[in-house]
Amino acid sequence: MRTLIINEIFYSIQGETSRTGLPTTFVRLTGCPLRCSYCDTKYAFKKGFKKSFDEIIIEIDKNKTKYITITGGEPLAQKDILLFMKELCDLEYSVSIETSNAYTIENIDPRVSIILDIKTPASNEADKNMIQNYNFLKPKDEIKFVICNLSDFNWAREYIKKYNLTSNCQIIFSPSYEEMPLSQLADLILSNNLDVRLQAQLHKTIWGPVDGK
Ligand code: SF4
Repeated sequence: MRTLIINEIFYSIQGETSRTGLPTTFVRLTGCPLRCSYCDTKYAFKKGFKKSFDEIIIEIDKNKTKYITITGGEPLAQKDILLFMKELCDLEYSVSIETSNAYTIENIDPRVSIILDIKTPASNEADKNMIQNYNFLKPKDEIKFVICNLSDFNWAREYIKKYNLTSNCQIIFSPSYEEMPLSQLADLILSNNLDVRLQAQLHKTIWGPVDGK
């Protein structure tokens, strides 16, 4: 029987990406080998319960939405997540995965939308970025940069040019909560004429930083 270690399953409004505003079931997997400076889900590093695929799907089914977001922690740290996402796609759920850029995305089912979080220097985890991953992005995927300060912004702007990332898929700039004001990031994007999408975390606007996971 296939199982995953699950930290939580919850129903909420998607606060990020092109799916912002959609009622979504979030499946948060336990465990992450990274330690980003701004991590707001440290509670998912260790705590979790083993659940079979069927048990997880029964919980998902309680929420009447087809939108599922697989998140963490780092969901790709559990290898059976690949099979689980395939099963969800076979059941005609619309699946997205939020993943750091520390694991290969090569074997993710092509029906899944990937949100690839490229780590900036201020995260303290930029050395984990897997450059090979950019070859596997599809047009419907999204690249996210969490911007902590001006130096992160400048780094991300040059990184996008270096790897020609705008040719791959939509790029999102999201301010690190309570580090970079949204208005400052908006001004920087405009003054630099960047082809990126500014992202506010809608769930935190609605419910605040604690309840808005
Ligand atoms: S990858 Fe995500 S879960 Fe892991 S430490 Fe960084 S922000 Fe936290």
